[in-house]
Amino acid sequence: MVELKTDSSIDAMYEAGQVVARALTAARDAADVGVSLLELDALAREVLREAGASSPFLGYRPSFAPTPFPAVLCASVNDAIVHGIPTTYRLRDGDLVSLDFGAELNGWVGDSAISFTVGTPRPADLRLIATAERALAAGIEAAVVGNRVGDIAYAVGSVCRAGGYGVPDGFGGHGVGRHMHEDPPVPNEGRPGRGLRLRHGMVLAIEPMLVAGGGDTYYAAPDGWTLRTHDGSRAAHVEHTVAITDSGPRVLTAR
Ligand code: MG
Ligand code: MG
Repeated sequence: MVELKTDSSIDAMYEAGQVVARALTAARDAADVGVSLLELDALAREVLREAGASSPFLGYRPSFAPTPFPAVLCASVNDAIVHGIPTTYRLRDGDLVSLDFGAELNGWVGDSAISFTVGTPRPADLRLIATAERALAAGIEAAVVGNRVGDIAYAVGSVCRAGGYGVPDGFGGHGVGRHMHEDPPVPNEGRPGRGLRLRHGMVLAIEPMLVAGGGDTYYAAPDGWTLRTHDGSRAAHVEHTVAITDSGPRVLTAR
């Protein structure tokens, strides 16, 4: 069931979204050659603590996961697409990092992700990240009253495919609210004019995931969480929580 949020609930979700934005900015600013993924997780925990917020990621255990998620931040490096567990791994020159983060504040959740490079970037990675950001922007632009979920999916997928990138099958965005994952699913590919009609008060996470090698498949690493590309090619993942309103899309996790 899709829950429509009141305007005051959307304002409250914006506050949660801004905690997410601050944590991602802090982690990105700190990420550098030699910095460990666990250090970035610790920074994000500090932002939650200061805000009086909690983590919807920590202890999360969806059906596919063998263990509860042990961190507040997903850190996916290079060929990791999403759901990377922060470890003692220290970032290296040229790494491509995707950070996904959620916060729960006053009972409302925000969810957002960024991709960036560390040290000297590879041109191919910059192009991949720029395309991911364009796909997200196209998805947000399509998140307007009267459109359908398929219009968002089509907008996102078209940008990814036009860049020659793969789109991992079966993963994508979702409704957000009191829970991190609500209805409806928001796929990263779809047909325009299809699916649920968008209405004022819907809040959706839109989250393109792109694979440089063009493949749509992935495998779960031995940790049971991290999804990696089959061909070792690099991946990018960006996400915003977006409210659909009569005055247009409102990006609740804007940085
Ligand atoms: Mg996320
Ligand atoms: Mg999400």
